[in-house]
Amino acid sequence: ASASAFKRNFASSAKPRMLNGRTLAPTINHNNSAGMKILAVLYKGGDAAKQEPRLLGTVENQLGIREWLESQGHEYIVTDDKEGPNSVFQRELKDAEVLITTPFHPGYLTRDLIAKAPNLKLCVTAGVGSDHIDLNAAVERKIQVLEVTGSNVTSVAEHVVMSILLLVRNFVPAHEMIERGDWQVSEVARNAYDLEGKVIGTLGAGRIGYRVLERLQPFNPKELLYYDYNPLPEEAAKKVGARRVEDLKEFVSQLDVLTVNAPLHEGTRNLINADLLKHFKKGAWLVNTARGAICNAEDVAAALKSGQLNGYAGDVWNVQPAPKEHPWRYMKNTLGGGNGMVPHYSGTTLDAQARYAAGTKQILENYFQGKPQEPANIIVGLGKYETKSYGKR
Ligand code: NAD
Repeated sequence: ASASAFKRNFASSAKPRMLNGRTLAPTINHNNSAGMKILAVLYKGGDAAKQEPRLLGTVENQLGIREWLESQGHEYIVTDDKEGPNSVFQRELKDAEVLITTPFHPGYLTRDLIAKAPNLKLCVTAGVGSDHIDLNAAVERKIQVLEVTGSNVTSVAEHVVMSILLLVRNFVPAHEMIERGDWQVSEVARNAYDLEGKVIGTLGAGRIGYRVLERLQPFNPKELLYYDYNPLPEEAAKKVGARRVEDLKEFVSQLDVLTVNAPLHEGTRNLINADLLKHFKKGAWLVNTARGAICNAEDVAAALKSGQLNGYAGDVWNVQPAPKEHPWRYMKNTLGGGNGMVPHYSGTTLDAQARYAAGTKQILENYFQGKPQEPANIIVGLGKYETKSYGKR
């Protein structure tokens, strides 16, 4: 039974391209019955992608897998056009078997779209974080959702540490002053602090959260705290000197700095809102590189304006690309600083792109050949969640 479950779970519907024990010659005939349609929604790289081939996650460089896929007779459609019923994404999805997306330019696979994609069997996230897919609908339809777990967790953890430092040390206004041609040390020093001696906490202590704790320990914080329904193994918590706090309000009320490192799901959407922000220490710093929609955009901007927050930094937005008028582009603290927002790129360094492109190829190869997938990569298996990270179930 498990062998057939495995076959249903992972094996490609494509007929093997073998004849009398010989592999058939590669073909790029898209109508070949051996091939399947693979649709990828990636971001447009423009001139940068033409000049820098290591920008693998772009429409131009196509994760570096076109030749390989076509040599096996598969049709590979790559687009950045993802919004609305006439988008390439929505049109091509209708008969695609595999969908590749990235969190950086998410093709939002809603329940409605899943209903219109009868052939869809596998979704691969080139990166980490699959909230742009309706995971509950994928469970119901027995569509598997895999991601390249771990591929960019160090990249993000480094960005988190950088963002904490740039907020606490008031770096952005100091740099802007230099670019303006000004020099008034007191104007920036009035809101600059040391990280040493502060209480820092992570909401979510998984792969990224734990790496953040590891990287923060040498700064000699007063205390490192974490909030997660999956407690760290005792040894791991001890190694970084982190204490778990089980009540969320109690957790945030102790922190000078909060870093958010949990996936977006029903239990984290809009979790950091005006109500919770009231329980923060006045003047705390907040860094969110997990998902924009975990924080309420208007409430965060208001907290910065009122002084409840001293700074907010991150690379993730509730809508991506973020519209020009998004409050997070322009919000400031009471002293005109405290904004460390950048576009979604912390997990897409060139090092990370090499890893998630290779990981995507491996997942596809396993799928084509009916080989088992790396268990850590499976978010949704055949009809059930395989991860414990998307909420208590
Ligand atoms: P992970 O699965 O290793 O860890 C996530 C942790 O969050 C788990 O320990 C889980 O129990 C915890 N968690 C879930 N819901 C929670 C809740 N309500 N309260 C407290 N903790 C909760 O995942 P990871 O590799 O550390 O990645 C975390 C998230 O970071 C991803 O899901 C993704 O959204 C985001 N991410 C962002 C980027 C980027 O480029 N900005 C890149 C990679 C990942």
